[in-house]
Amino acid sequence: MYCSNCGKEIDDKAVICVHCGVATQNMNQTQNVDMTLKSRLVAGLLAIFVGSLGIHNFYLGYKDKALIQLLLTVVGWIIIVGPIIAGIWALIEAIQIFTGSINKDAEGRLLRE
Ligand SMILES: [Zn+2]
Repeated sequence: MYCSNCGKEIDDKAVICVHCGVATQNMNQTQNVDMTLKSRLVAGLLAIFVGSLGIHNFYLGYKDKALIQLLLTVVGWIIIVGPIIAGIWALIEAIQIFTGSINKDAEGRLLRE
């Protein structure tokens, strides 16, 4: 990246520009990198109400898991227990989301409260 003050090239991880000594914007970026705009509350409520369709996992970006839950409900009714498994699974994840066991999205960013 380039220093926003003097425009010289500096290390991507640099906190202070070695050329002019001005603090880079990287500090703010680092703080934001680990946070996502996705909310724990939204994820938890989605898990409770539409969790058997995997919506909360689509929301968090866990697409594989979401797809399995969706298929369990949409196709799994043929073997009757499919939607039940998906429902219980989603309920467990709702609890994990609210208790903080699941506190990151698929990209490893922390959820907002
Ligand atoms: Zn500089």
